[in-house]
Amino acid sequence: MSSVFEAPLLPTYARAPVTFESGEGSWLVADDGRRYLDFAGGIAVVGLGHCHPAATAAAHAQLDRLWHASNLYWTRPMAELAERLSTRFGGAKVFFCNSGAEAIEAALKYARKATGRPGIVALEGSFHGRTFGALSVTGQPAKRTAFEPLLPGVSFAQLNDVDSLRAACAGEPPACILMEPVQGEGGVHAATPEFLAAAATLAEDTGALLAFDEIQTGVGRTGSFFAFEQLGVRPALATLAKGLANGLPIGCLLVADAVADAFEPGDHASTFGGNPVACAAACAVMDALTDELLTSVRVLGAQLVEGLAGLPGVVETRGLGLLVGAELDRPAADVVSACLERGLLVTSAGGNVVRLTPPLMVAAGEVEQALAILGEALACNETPPA
Ligand SMILES: *Cc1c(COP(=O)(O)O)cnc(C)c1O
Repeated sequence: MSSVFEAPLLPTYARAPVTFESGEGSWLVADDGRRYLDFAGGIAVVGLGHCHPAATAAAHAQLDRLWHASNLYWTRPMAELAERLSTRFGGAKVFFCNSGAEAIEAALKYARKATGRPGIVALEGSFHGRTFGALSVTGQPAKRTAFEPLLPGVSFAQLNDVDSLRAACAGEPPACILMEPVQGEGGVHAATPEFLAAAATLAEDTGALLAFDEIQTGVGRTGSFFAFEQLGVRPALATLAKGLANGLPIGCLLVADAVADAFEPGDHASTFGGNPVACAAACAVMDALTDELLTSVRVLGAQLVEGLAGLPGVVETRGLGLLVGAELDRPAADVVSACLERGLLVTSAGGNVVRLTPPLMVAAGEVEQALAILGEALACNETPPA
């Protein structure tokens, strides 16, 4: 492993000393020629795998045709992607932007404009992004404290605690109730169907918009296009980003048709939002997410969870589809490094949780390979008995 760069970057990331130059499928190749099995997937981004032929061809073709025209006009890839997303959602209007945090900003602004109310209810342990609005609804004090004061009017409830959600919605009714169907960065914690149903009822009773942040859970990651499809609750607002264009920057807010009349020209905007190249790639991604692939995501996710449960030092396994977390009896960071040394990329999500988000088209044999490497890394990273 080598890191040849001393580049003048602000140190917002603790970068590992490895430089990647190419990728194919579930594999990345470093500048020293070494191959790495990629179970980080660009943090739940590269769903179709690196350099997927159809997504690559779609982006190439659009690069040769038109890069940018502006949202003052129509472009075909944006219109086609909006059609596909609306159909998949079951009737929605779309706002395009370039990242997850931007999609959350759009959702917060939309909820305030649509309801005329300031309040937002979000969850402890959540992650919604790093811009001021998105950070304001992120329930992790360590990420927030240095940047206060944040947006006023935000209250936090406990995940899967209906009473605490009711309490957070009491008093002035909120503009929206925002949650991830499965908390990703927060440690891979799924909302229970009962909690989601209670949130939907509360939203209806209070006139708040139910908003699902599907930036990590969406685009097939959990084994359905939207996670909510298998959880029995349809939100009024949904955000997507990470996996939508297989690695090109894109984000979007979907607003259910029934409540989609709040924004007017001038209310919100994004210069690059709906970029033709990103949208062309995203159309190819959506076309590639067949029912067969989504089924295989659920099957391989179960295989991964089962394999993890048998590894030394794994205290609990959690997940939905190929958004999988293994809670360890030790800090995850050391295990993440030990895996990297052995040619496997994984990420951590919170102190003791290793998160696995491989490409959705990962092969069963690659899942076995990853489990073997992780097992080795855990075996020689045993915490000494206290
Ligand atoms: C990654 C993530 C975001 C932020 O997305 P960015 O593109 O990094 O701004 C927001 N919400 C969830 C659930 C995420 O996983």
